[in-house]
Amino acid sequence: MTRLPINSILSYSMSEKTTLIKNADYVITMNDNREILENTSLLISGNRIVECPTQVTEADEIIDATHKLVFPGFVNTHHHFFQTGFRFVPEMQSAPLGQWVKILGERSKNFNEQDWYNCSATSLAELVLSGCTTTADHCYLIPHDRNDFFDQEVRAAKDLGVRFHPVRGSMTLSANEGTIFPPHICQSLDMVIREIQRVIDTHHDPSSDSMCHVAAGPCFPVFPVSSSEEEMKEVMRLCRVNGVRMHTHAAEEIDEFDYTVQKTGKTPIGYLESIGCLGQDVWLAHCIFLTRRDIEILAATNTAIASCPSANSRGAGIAKVTEYLQAGIPVGVGVDGAAGNDTSNIQSELRMLRTLQGAREGVLNSYLIDQDPKTRCTIAAELKGTSYLNIDRLFEVGTLHGAKALGRENVIGSLEAGKLADIAIFDDHAISHAGAFFRPGSLFSCSPLRAWHVMINGKTVVMNGELRTADEETIISNQQRTTEKLRK
Ligand SMILES: [Zn+2]
Repeated sequence: MTRLPINSILSYSMSEKTTLIKNADYVITMNDNREILENTSLLISGNRIVECPTQVTEADEIIDATHKLVFPGFVNTHHHFFQTGFRFVPEMQSAPLGQWVKILGERSKNFNEQDWYNCSATSLAELVLSGCTTTADHCYLIPHDRNDFFDQEVRAAKDLGVRFHPVRGSMTLSANEGTIFPPHICQSLDMVIREIQRVIDTHHDPSSDSMCHVAAGPCFPVFPVSSSEEEMKEVMRLCRVNGVRMHTHAAEEIDEFDYTVQKTGKTPIGYLESIGCLGQDVWLAHCIFLTRRDIEILAATNTAIASCPSANSRGAGIAKVTEYLQAGIPVGVGVDGAAGNDTSNIQSELRMLRTLQGAREGVLNSYLIDQDPKTRCTIAAELKGTSYLNIDRLFEVGTLHGAKALGRENVIGSLEAGKLADIAIFDDHAISHAGAFFRPGSLFSCSPLRAWHVMINGKTVVMNGELRTADEETIISNQQRTTEKLRK
């Protein structure tokens, strides 16, 4: 348990508004001892947690959390907000990666700044209502004359009050260079570099309680190649000069793996290492096809992973998350965009991640069933006994590991004195959760719950299950309007 001395509490409470979250049935602290406290209160002053647990009984605002579960706000490490404009497009449901990237490129011609804002607001609202308080977004499909799209999603996150890690994406290799990407969604490297610097200068706040941390993210460094080696190196260099992070897709498809080995003699991870694009300031989406050596490289370089199990279920595969965690790699979860997953619900995604780890041995064996048992056992030996990811590890993936992937583990991801007040509270008094033995775990095994109360940076964003920073009905009707337009 971490406590601040009493004089710190007094100095906090004298200067800033205090909030007491009182008498929660469970507080999942994610502190060093991973304590789950029962019948506990915690005290907040301004945007920071002052004591957890606390004996204090009075505060400027009291949130009665009796019968509730209190979690650190969850962290989403990979998304493409604009894709929310493409929920359940029938021809994209079973299209391979290259095909849907193409469809997306064609259909996105009609986007304007309001559509981009609408898709961002919908994604952010769904994330928050599922208990997510910090999210990344990989904003990459930017027509050459629409650099303002990035600013629209920063505005949406600000309006909704969500801690935001927007990634200024880029694609420089278009169909003119023989790739599958329509030229209108690609930009010159000069413009990419200029724009990354502009959005860092305009939006990046490096302070510890920052609500906006900008990163940069060339889209596909390996396959389907959208970003040249030169682009990767230049963007990485610019990130390091500015002290911001780099994010990209890697090792998502077996075709990508084979293509990279053929082209460079290296695995996708080996290639990124060889061009200096791994490190503790880098997090990579997907990472399904990693060799044993790749896992060692990511662990040794402290490179983090954003695992996106729902999106990966659309034909890509299952990431070996259990092994990555055992190797010491920080693994966060990513709901990903609607090209791979039509929901932005962080609880569903964590549940999916845990469930699929349990399916791996069985999936492999089902495909090996025509082999003789000896061959089958030899091939499947490494997965013997794989099961659901342990719930304690899942809590870490959703909170501390996600925070680490975004470089924020010192300020978010746990409920401890000194940390920022990013908190998600759930009311599990529901038929779907009735009788659960271990109530905190039921959040990821029973149905997802709508968050009852969400606080971000000490401010209330959801109260009694309702969004307080924006009108939910307006967000829905705006999204509908955008979708009608994109459908044409
Ligand atoms: Zn993605």
